[in-house]
Amino acid sequence: MTEPSRVLVLNSGSSSVKYQLLEMADGSRLAAGIVERIGERGGRHTHRPIAQGGEVRTVERQVPDHAAALRSVSEQLAGDGLGLDSPALAAVGHRVVHGGTRFTEPTLVTDDVIEEIEDLVPLAPLHNPANLSGIRVIRELRPDLPQVAVFDTAFHATVPEAAARYAIDRDTADRLSVRRYGFHGTSHQYVSRRTAELLGRPLESVNIIVLHLGNGASASAVAGGVCVDTSMGLTPLEGLVMGTRSGDIDPAAIFHLHRVGGLAVDEIDDLLNRHSGLLGLCGDNDMREIGRRMAEGDAHAREAFDIYTYRLRKYVGAYCAVLGRVDAVAFTAGVGENSPAVREAALRGLEGFGIEVDPVLNAVRGSAARVVSPAEARTAVAVVPTDEELEIARQSYSLVQSQG
Ligand code: ADP
Repeated sequence: MTEPSRVLVLNSGSSSVKYQLLEMADGSRLAAGIVERIGERGGRHTHRPIAQGGEVRTVERQVPDHAAALRSVSEQLAGDGLGLDSPALAAVGHRVVHGGTRFTEPTLVTDDVIEEIEDLVPLAPLHNPANLSGIRVIRELRPDLPQVAVFDTAFHATVPEAAARYAIDRDTADRLSVRRYGFHGTSHQYVSRRTAELLGRPLESVNIIVLHLGNGASASAVAGGVCVDTSMGLTPLEGLVMGTRSGDIDPAAIFHLHRVGGLAVDEIDDLLNRHSGLLGLCGDNDMREIGRRMAEGDAHAREAFDIYTYRLRKYVGAYCAVLGRVDAVAFTAGVGENSPAVREAALRGLEGFGIEVDPVLNAVRGSAARVVSPAEARTAVAVVPTDEELEIARQSYSLVQSQG
């Protein structure tokens, strides 16, 4: 019998489950899909049978919980002959948002690991329970199948104390686990490795600033493949301006909003996480729409863009100081991969740091990793499409293989 060589990657959110089935022999996708509106009215499952080259299948039905969602995934995969019972399946790899200080590596799921992820729920009250329900349901469906938890925080575990510890009372911080953890780690790790490959240099020899600009956005400073600082903190709220999150803000603004504005803590949480950032500044959180409005002369859209790119520039400058020498600045995720205007504005005026964008190369659209700085520039500016699913699959597969 041939070795099992497929990995199912699951990203279970609070109301959706995204999945991809990968063949590890060549990293190809066999199937992918998303179950949306779990626990809400009008659930929907969209399934792409990639290996078969078939039509996308959409099933509209109530999906009361994650168990129902994963049963639906299992049915659709079985319909393609790729079911969870297939002996070709080597593992399920789960994206788990918060690993705290406990999990710094991909980890084989056991009863103890489930309990420890459960203990971290106070740090990620929306995400970790959803991630755990995915793990539990797969355990019921295929108890013998190895499952691997790949943590969004793990790549940032190397950030030194000087960058990870907040300057607040030590005992309070430690008792309540308040420190910088960082997120999007799988993406920062994948993109820094791909960037070194693109430059044709060993990862150990290059310093890279990675800018992951999706709906959520984060920056990291990676020295020789090791993360030394990152912009998200205890939660994904800190750092860059994002689609709906404020990023950095004076913490005393929260006291002001509460004491003077009369907003309750949950209202402020909602304001800063879901109604701020680009959306709060101009009413749109999609950079494409902001681009269109700017072209029509819309002042709020222009200001939102300026605030967004100014914050980026500030972090690039900070991470130049952190790294000392910067070999590459890599842009990734929806905005980073697709918006020449953001890349240009974020790096404008940094020629003195050896960082510049070639306007012609930057304007070229494409899905391949590419360099968009002039050939003679000291620092390469790169556009490197992220692939968190492939990274999760690789880490899961190599862990399962190493266990023999
Ligand atoms: P998520 O964090 O949800 O994974 P993505 O990485 O998919 O997000 O990024 C989503 C964002 O990418 C959208 O908000 C949109 O603004 C932006 N985006 C996608 N395509 C383009 C484009 N062609 N130009 C500018 N921005 C884009």
